[in-house]
Amino acid sequence: MASAVLCDVDFDRDGRQTSVLRVPQSHDNAGWGTVEIPIHVVKNGDGPTTLFTGGVHGDEFEGQIAVSRLARELEPEAIRGRVIMIPVVDIPAALASTRLCPVDGKDLNRCFPGDPKGTFCDKLAHFIDSTLLPLVDVSVDVHSGGTGMNTALSTNMHFLGDAPRMARTLAAAEAFGAPYNCVFWSVDEGSTLPSACEARGILSLGTELGGRGSVDVEGVRIGERGLRNILMHVGIMTGEPDTRQVDGAPRGRHMMVPGPGHFVFAPARGIFEPTGVVGDPVEAGAVAGRIHVVEELGREPIELHYPVSGQLWAVQSPGRPRQGDCVVVVMGPYREHGGSA
Ligand code: CA
Repeated sequence: MASAVLCDVDFDRDGRQTSVLRVPQSHDNAGWGTVEIPIHVVKNGDGPTTLFTGGVHGDEFEGQIAVSRLARELEPEAIRGRVIMIPVVDIPAALASTRLCPVDGKDLNRCFPGDPKGTFCDKLAHFIDSTLLPLVDVSVDVHSGGTGMNTALSTNMHFLGDAPRMARTLAAAEAFGAPYNCVFWSVDEGSTLPSACEARGILSLGTELGGRGSVDVEGVRIGERGLRNILMHVGIMTGEPDTRQVDGAPRGRHMMVPGPGHFVFAPARGIFEPTGVVGDPVEAGAVAGRIHVVEELGREPIELHYPVSGQLWAVQSPGRPRQGDCVVVVMGPYREHGGSA
């Protein structure tokens, strides 16, 4: 079925195009109302197509900045191929600084492959999946931990069954140049943009570039450099990716989160006091944090323990998680065939 989203971009035209996607959104004062989402397309001749997206979650700011800046600066003469940029995909969520879209209460990154007759997020996901993804060779969806998490600065990717695709994706992640590349399994993965990309054979990278509901300055730098590095890596721009790390290392490190055995969930509601910060080395069995049930007089805090040794990838950010929330994720060193989950 045709997309419900209006789009006047000619994806075959050379040059710079800046326009808006119009997602139909009927409201009390306008039955023919639309929500406008800026889209930028820069094309020069034949070559690969990359899709760079930010703001799929509205409370993740680094990607919105990085993709916006590239969209303003990238000139057709500097490239060979096509770059499609949507700096703020879920714009109602971004304007509200929320993860979930305030129009329909949904997480856009749980709505793929979407539905042209569904809600706002369903229609938007369907447009991306059915109209944009068939054009795309490489997708980089720039995320951060948002309000809910703080994360080690990293690219991320899934375990892929196909060995050549896995090798290509690892190489692209290395070229992006974040301090870590985390090969991972996550909760509720089937309906995400990366999964939609993988279903179509597109090389897909995500990122986690900070979080805590604020702007991570180093995350913005790594994100901006990474997007240009990817353009060089796939041959859309000339030059060599700059993957140098602040500690002098020539490139980042591959890590993995092979399954839920690397997660810690809050067993009760309360205030979560983590014992480490992202990037810290951790030991299996050591105290990962405490849940303080402050409303119960004399109650001892509940101690949580690291399930495995490795380094902290993500730590819950708000002081008061809900029971069942993931509060800690530990990444281990990457091993081939490590994806048991
Ligand atoms: Ca996210």
